[in-house]
Amino acid sequence: MKIAAIISVGTEIMRGKIDDTNSTFISKFLKDCGIRTRLRLSVEDDIADIVKALRFCDEADIVILTGGLGPTDDDLTREALSEYLGKPLVFQERQWELLKVFFKRFNRPIAESNKKQSDLIEGAEFIPNKNGTAPGMYYNKDGRLFILLPGPPRENQPMIKGDLYGILKENGFFSGEIYTRVYRLYGVGESTVADIFTGFDEDIQIGYYFTTGGWVEVHFSDFITGEAGKKRVDDITKKGLSLIDANNIFRTTDNDLSFITMKMLDDTNKTVSFAESLTGGNLSGELVKNPGSSKIFNGSVVSYSNDMKMNVLGVGEKSLSSFGAVSESVAREMAEGLKKITGSDICISVTGIAGPDGGSDEKPVGLVYFGYNFDNDSYVKKEILGGNRQQIIQRTINFVFMEILKHYSYNCE
Ligand code: ATP
Repeated sequence: MKIAAIISVGTEIMRGKIDDTNSTFISKFLKDCGIRTRLRLSVEDDIADIVKALRFCDEADIVILTGGLGPTDDDLTREALSEYLGKPLVFQERQWELLKVFFKRFNRPIAESNKKQSDLIEGAEFIPNKNGTAPGMYYNKDGRLFILLPGPPRENQPMIKGDLYGILKENGFFSGEIYTRVYRLYGVGESTVADIFTGFDEDIQIGYYFTTGGWVEVHFSDFITGEAGKKRVDDITKKGLSLIDANNIFRTTDNDLSFITMKMLDDTNKTVSFAESLTGGNLSGELVKNPGSSKIFNGSVVSYSNDMKMNVLGVGEKSLSSFGAVSESVAREMAEGLKKITGSDICISVTGIAGPDGGSDEKPVGLVYFGYNFDNDSYVKKEILGGNRQQIIQRTINFVFMEILKHYSYNCE
């Protein structure tokens, strides 16, 4: 298996002004190519420091540097690699002409300083940059591959996904795509997942990432490619899933909850409607972003105010004044009223406090009541959800889809 090192160059990185997201993006890309990143370094725009970093990477088969390919005096990455390799930079007339065309296209005058972006390390090849002025380059030195890429992600990401992929393949560095199985876990944090997998299997790669959508993504993969890798990953996934199940964690395949819910309702010929208070229409929005949702979705009521709850859904004034809008009774009446209006097989209401204001000791921020009516069988559930306003809304939406899936015994393999 090939080993890679990544060096991000930039004084802005070293001063904490920008995050080195390039290295994360590249590591992920390399992993998918079956290449293992063993070392990541960051240095200032300084020739001596860049050369030192390159020496540090002596054992890597592939060294990728990002940043410092601009036209200004402090852009020194090409010069540093040239010094490290002991190969001169040679001005390329053709690249200069291409650069002039690029500037003309955007009606910008080209500066003399841009000339150095047409310098190529002797024996290297350019990697074209469609979104900027600095081309990348690569150099194969006795079976070790050195790659230079510009710093801005919008410039280097298309180069990585496009040209770099081919360069690795052509130069014999591509180990084949590695087999990965991905699952989403809901209602748990990353640390719980980490605890579950502690000491699980040292060799296999298990990655878990907390996502903004409110789930933890678990990846089972291995650097062994081909059938052997696939079998190993399948075996380990089976064991991993049984651990997840033993901890009562809700899991799905790597698809949106709303999509899985829609498919399941379609398969079982059920229709659904929502009475939304704290989610303000987002719950329905999440469902209808999936093409084909018209078959299972009749429509919803966004009943944010008490008046809407009473006048449209028929919630009793007494329930509202005695228990408040965020209460078991109101959640139940909202779902029942919705059933009368829509006749949907599944009617679900959500009422809660998304915050940041409006909480009390008795009813804290994050308190949500869910009124469920499945084929006329109704019940209410209460949750206290963590996070900020947006996260509470997202988690409320996730809980609703999870409940539907659980109700119909969704089974994810
Ligand atoms: P340019 O052609 O714009 O001069 P460059 O190759 O010289 O590009 P840098 O000057 O190092 O690149 O960085 C330009 C911009 O790219 C930075 O201001 C930053 O926004 C982004 N950038 C640079 N390095 C990284 C990194 N490691 N991760 C994420 N963004 C980065």
